[in-house]
Amino acid sequence: MSWASKLSKPYRVEDGAKFRLKDFDPGDTGHLHSKQHAEKLLQQGIAAMSEWQTKLYAQDSWSLLINFQAMDAAGKDGAIKHVMSGVNPQGCDVHPFKVPSSEELNHDPLWRTMQRLPERGKIGIFNRSYYEEVLVVRVHPELLKNERTPPSLVTKDIWKNRFEDINHFERYLSRNGIVILKFFLHLSKREQKQRFLARLEEPEKNWKFSAADVRERKFWDDYMKAYEDMIIHTATKNAPWYVVPADNKWFTRVVVAAAIVNTLEELKPDYPKVDPEKRKELQAARKMLEGTKSAQIA
Ligand code: AMP
Ligand code: MG
Repeated sequence: MSWASKLSKPYRVEDGAKFRLKDFDPGDTGHLHSKQHAEKLLQQGIAAMSEWQTKLYAQDSWSLLINFQAMDAAGKDGAIKHVMSGVNPQGCDVHPFKVPSSEELNHDPLWRTMQRLPERGKIGIFNRSYYEEVLVVRVHPELLKNERTPPSLVTKDIWKNRFEDINHFERYLSRNGIVILKFFLHLSKREQKQRFLARLEEPEKNWKFSAADVRERKFWDDYMKAYEDMIIHTATKNAPWYVVPADNKWFTRVVVAAAIVNTLEELKPDYPKVDPEKRKELQAARKMLEGTKSAQIA
């Protein structure tokens, strides 16, 4: 088993049936004995990811979709920044999903996701995602009104229906070569408070503070229930959830890196094979270049 597999597997949920959030500790640091050890592995992960990404891009066939979901201050932005620091920006797109715009609300909920799916060969990162439709919208069902779904279709089964739709959608993506990874950065309520306080106290963190985030904290238990139910219903073999401990940022980042590296190791993207026709083309090009060179010298 590779280090990436060993580090990420304990947090991978492929079958939601038995999932309980309370079995996962936000303060867990696995078998890592120090921050330095984690940093070394993170660098190793970043280097491996960079190599795999070059092949993924060259192969131009498979792509990766990486969803990040979490409570505020769980470290989504930092994880994206650190973990993706070694990848070629040309092969990678990051999209933050915010409160839907009026144009987005004029469409069905998955419409905006469709436009942002990664192209072949690319890595697409969603900072929040279509999962908000069963998280913030579930915790604040009044948001459903803005979506203007015909009222007769908004029944007590709405969440079950949405889980089903998401599962079908993800199966469609995986059948078409889009490999899906989903991260839930699992933060404790206590650590969130510490991070909010730091945003208030440290001038260079003030810009990150939002009073709305503190108001959302009141709904903590509702969110945890929504997250648990979401994972129960949408963790599948083809689109697993990783429930990543988030109270220690250094651990969060190395687990995220490990999960991505492990996925790429299993996918094994490779440079496209040179077929006989292409080889002929390469040989002809070489002759032409060598001819030019001798002509210049002559
Ligand atoms: P942030 O990621 O902190 O910039 O905040 C983005 C905000 O947009 C969060 O409060 C999300 O809950 C909210 N948001 C994202 N997607 C949706 C959605 N589909 N419906 C309603 N609110 C959303
Ligand atoms: Mg925010």
